[in-house]
Formats: sequence, structure tokens, C-alpha cells
Amino acid sequence: MDLDYTATDLAFRDTVRAFLEANLPADLQQKVRMHRRLERDDYVRWHRICARQGWAAPAWPVEYGGPGWSATERHIWEEECARAGTPPILPFGVNMVAPVIMAFGNAAQKAYYLPRILHCDDWWCQGYSEPGSGSDLASLKTTAERVGEHYIVNGQKTWTTLGQHADMIFCLVRTDSTVRKQEGISFLLIDMKTPGITVRPIIMLDEEHEVNEVFFDNVKVPVENLIGQENKGWTYAKYLLGHERTGIAAVGRSKRELLFLKKIASEQFKGGRPLLQDAVFAAKVASLEIELMALETTVLRVITKADHRPGPEASLLKVRGSEIQQLLTELMLEALGPNGLPFDTDYLEGKQEHALTGDDAAAPLAGYYFNFRKTSIYGGSNEIQKNIITQMILGL
Ligand SMILES: Cc1cc2nc3c(=O)[nH]c(=O)nc-3n(C[C@H](O)[C@H](O)[C@H](O)COP(=O)(O)OP(=O)(O)OC[C@H]3O[C@@H](n4cnc5c(N)ncnc54)[C@H](O)[C@@H]3O)c2cc1C
Repeated sequence: MDLDYTATDLAFRDTVRAFLEANLPADLQQKVRMHRRLERDDYVRWHRICARQGWAAPAWPVEYGGPGWSATERHIWEEECARAGTPPILPFGVNMVAPVIMAFGNAAQKAYYLPRILHCDDWWCQGYSEPGSGSDLASLKTTAERVGEHYIVNGQKTWTTLGQHADMIFCLVRTDSTVRKQEGISFLLIDMKTPGITVRPIIMLDEEHEVNEVFFDNVKVPVENLIGQENKGWTYAKYLLGHERTGIAAVGRSKRELLFLKKIASEQFKGGRPLLQDAVFAAKVASLEIELMALETTVLRVITKADHRPGPEASLLKVRGSEIQQLLTELMLEALGPNGLPFDTDYLEGKQEHALTGDDAAAPLAGYYFNFRKTSIYGGSNEIQKNIITQMILGL
């Protein structure tokens, strides 16, 4: 395998950089680089800028509006976006439900939903997890009973990321409880404005409203919103999860955060020298950098695989990617010492121009550290990924 970039790849990188320099709004870039809160409009604005360029869905086939990039070009795009500090294009529409619609949806569903996802006309959220059904997802209890030309949905989803903004939710629902649990699940697309849906916030450790509980009380969903066949939803659900885990490695973002870590560690002093020159701290940073380089190589190996389909290797990327992301936030706080402790909500919410401590870069980092405890849980917990690795890769 040749992991060196070709001249064409390097020219592509220049094109991407020029686009980002010309089109990434400075206020969005500043928010991302300084770990400030992103609002709904921030995500939508950036998604639509990319959509106008035809680059909002790098992995989509050309026939649905994708740019037709190779795996390497997609990697370069992601790396350059992370380096520049763009808001993320949220995965729920573009990378999660869209591949399922492409693979298993009917012609009408493809024609209606895919262009809307591409242009961010609908904000999507993911309705998989339930109280008591996270790792053991197939035990889910939300029911959908067919009555004429509708399903009547009852139950509860939880941890629904950014569901408070959502126009649509894709849901796993139980349509048959008399068979093996995996065989009675269906995949439904539900309009969040349908009567009977209630969204309640769950406030996280960093006081962010990022996740929600979603309740369904006799919600009427047209049968045309069923994806594929009834009771085959588990197959579609697993197909989607592979796509979710590849993106979770977030190598590009970790590379940007590594530079940020080095910057703050070079501005803090220990024994009269920059902390970055302290032998113990420098060794921690170097070890992290080596792990990150190894992860990047693994990502390239996975995405340049002949059939391009993420297999159980995606679990490796998820585990190492999340561990590295968490370690970065830990080292940032360690570097800042007491300066990293104040939790300055007025500054984070944009009500004050500068942080109370006088260090704007430090203010969001305690929240960032707490927030990133999530990465080893979501997208399938790391323990579950390790089970997959031992069974599917190591054959134990
Ligand atoms: C910030 C955040 C955002 C999320 N966003 C969404 C979303 O948008 N949509 C959605 O549907 N879900 C979402 N989730 C849910 C996420 O997928 C689940 O939290 C995750 O799958 C774990 O399920 P659980 O929380 O029910 O924990 P449990 O399954 O109850 O697990 C509890 C603990 O036991 C361990 N464990 C469980 N089973 C095993 C086993 N067999 N072997 C070894 N260890 C085991 C787990 O690793 C974990 O440490 C989100 C979660 C978080 C934290």
C-alpha cells in the first residue's frame, strides 16, 4: 500500500485550501478553534456553503449529488476542514440516514429525502437508543403498530443528539414482538412535528443541552415512511452503524487539537521554562502524537480498502480515536493547571466579550474536557467495540 500523496492529490489539497480560505466565515472558524458553543444556524450556514460548492456530502455517489471524490480526496477534505476549523457537517443526515436510504429506500424516498439532506433542508436526528436499550440495542421496546395506511408509534428514545433542532428522526421500532428480537425491528422516518412527539432536554456535565429524551404517544406515521421491508430494520441499522464509527476517529480534529495543546503548553511555564520543554510533559505529548500518527495510518488503510465498506475495523478506529480525543482534553487541562478550572458561562454563551480570568483560550476547556467523556460511550461504547474486535478481527 502506498500512503504517499500523488501530485494530483496535492493539487486537490491546494484547491480545497483555497476554497476554505475564501469561504469559511471568520466568526465560525473562531468559534471552532476556541472551543466556543455552536448554534443551530452555525451548523446550517456551513453545511449550505459546502452544498453550494457541491461538497456537502463527500462520500455520496455522483448520481445523488456527491462530488465523486476518491477515498484519499475525501480524507484530504476532512483533514483540511479540521485544520481550518470548520463546524462539522452533522452526520445524522448525510452520513447516517442517507446511505440507508440509498441502499434500501425506494425511488420516491430517494427522490424526496436525498436532495433535502444534501442542502440541509431538514435537520435529522437518530432515534436508536432507549432507556434500557443502549448496548443491547436489539431489545428496544418502542412499538409501531400498523393500522391501515399508518403506523402508530408509542415509546421513548433517549440520548437523541441535537434532537431539539430536528425536523426528522430516523427510528428503530418494534413491529413484531413474537419473534427473535433482531427479527421484529423496522426502520421508520418520522416527522418531528407530528402530534404526540415530546422532546425533553438532558443537560450534560458541561451544562450543554446537546442530548434529549424523545417521547412518542400514539404518533401516526404514514406507511410510506418505512424504509425497506417491515421487520428487516436490524439489517439497515447495522449498515448505518458502520458508517457512524468510521467518522468517529476524527483524526483531522485531533491533529488541530494537538497543535492547540502544544500552543498552550508552550505559553505555560514550569521551573522557568515553557511546559512543552518539561521532559515529563513533553514525553506525554510525544506519545500522544505517535498514537495519533498510527491512527491516521490505520484510517488510511481502512478507507483505501478495495471495497470501501467499513467492516469491524471501524471499531478499532472508534476506540483509538475516542481515547486520543479524551487524552488531548486531559493534557490541555493539565497544562493549564488552575487557569483551566473556572467555568465561565457568560463568556461561553457570548454574553461577555472576554473570559473573567483574562484567558479566553482557557475558559471553554474544562467544559470541553467534561464533554469529551462522551466519546467512549456514544456510537457504541468502547467495551462493546472491544467485544467486536475480539470476536470479528481476532476470532476469539
Ligand atoms: C453524548 C451522547 C450522545 C448520544 N447520541 C445518541 C443519538 O443521537 N441517538 C441514539 O440513538 N443514541 C445516542 N447515544 C446513545 C449511545 O449510543 C449509548 O449511550 C451507548 O450505546 C451505550 O448505551 P447505554 O448508555 O444504554 O449504556 P449500557 O448499554 O447500559 O452500558 C453501561 C455500561 O456497561 C457496559 N456494557 C454493556 N454491555 C456490555 C457487554 N456486553 N460487554 C462489556 N461491557 C458492556 C458499557 O460499555 C457501559 O460501560 C448517545 C450517547 C451519548 C453519551
